[in-house]
Amino acid sequence: MRNKIFVARIIPDAGLQLLRQQFDVDVWQEFLPPNREAILSRVKGVVGLLSLLSDRIDAEVMDAAGPQLRGIANFAVGYNNIDVAAAVERGIAVGNTPDVLTDATADTAVGLVLAAARHFQASILQVRSLQWKTWEPMGLLGHDLNGKTLGIVGMGRIGAAVARKLVGGWGMRVVYTSRSPKPEIDHEFNTTQVSMDDLLAQSDVISLHTDLNEQTKHMIGDREFALMKPNAILVNTARGGVIDQVALYKALKSKSIFAAGLDVTDPEPLPNDSPLRELENCTILPHIGSATVEARDRMSVMAAQNLIAASAGQPIPFSVRRVLDPIANQIGQRFNAKFSHGSGSP
Ligand code: NAP
Repeated sequence: MRNKIFVARIIPDAGLQLLRQQFDVDVWQEFLPPNREAILSRVKGVVGLLSLLSDRIDAEVMDAAGPQLRGIANFAVGYNNIDVAAAVERGIAVGNTPDVLTDATADTAVGLVLAAARHFQASILQVRSLQWKTWEPMGLLGHDLNGKTLGIVGMGRIGAAVARKLVGGWGMRVVYTSRSPKPEIDHEFNTTQVSMDDLLAQSDVISLHTDLNEQTKHMIGDREFALMKPNAILVNTARGGVIDQVALYKALKSKSIFAAGLDVTDPEPLPNDSPLRELENCTILPHIGSATVEARDRMSVMAAQNLIAASAGQPIPFSVRRVLDPIANQIGQRFNAKFSHGSGSP
């Protein structure tokens, strides 16, 4: 009898085919994610679980699966939905899908910067609502980006990719914050790491790229908005919880900052009565950062490879603990070298 795995949503065929060669695959077929009860019941007896960022995977889920559970493969690079400590305690490997979605997500961030800087949201609304009456010499004035200062909060893979695009395309000057020193970044962008307060005070565009953790939850609140320039644009493609949304609403409504572009909110979807939906200076996307055919194909293959390795008791290639696990890191680098120039359908 083949080992069972549960896949919490329909994902691209590239990954599903790999999984079907090895396992008895149970795929959640609904448009909406499985609710708690469904997850707890469908994971029973599986060796592997392919989860999405909308699925909370904690000790209860792991115990409901049973002691044969070997691996959890998140179909995302962020893994704040998984209790990694509980998995480690139980000897369950946890994997994610880094690198292959970096460009797609960075492109989304750049799109939001442009949309926010140039009033795309208000402009589209004007056309749709039949309010476009004339060419306005003083209407819908945005801000140039050329030569302005870009503040990257969280200079990791996606943060660096956004900086490359905005430096290469618009000649922006980069400042950044991160947890650790980054001499190669300092060299590449001819910059140095600054304090968060300095970044907020200097930047015309602030782009958030940290993972969501205890230190980054609500790291942008009233105090931080007060430090930003009146022309500041805040873009978030990280996780909604990094921003205190009540403070964001106040800053946008009072125009103490110029505009915001959000690919992520807290919660998701944003409630129907959220006042953020009504602001013309707030562009909101439904978490489409990695939503390209190419990125999602590659993510599906990586997640499948994680479950295949975990079920065989081998180190998984894309472990969330790869910093602590040099063997996994080497395998991951080989995979990324192989697929980073591919056609998108590995
Ligand atoms: P990454 O390479 O791990 O980058 C995260 C960066 O955040 C790291 O450089 C880290 O700094 C920094 N960081 C963490 N805590 C911090 C803190 N307290 N203060 C300052 N910096 C901090 O991850 P990535 O691949 O770029 O992805 C980043 C995040 O984007 C993911 O965790 C995910 O939540 C989000 N994401 C969203 C989408 C989407 O669809 N919108 C798609 C992909 C990813 P150090 O390097 O110094 O440790």
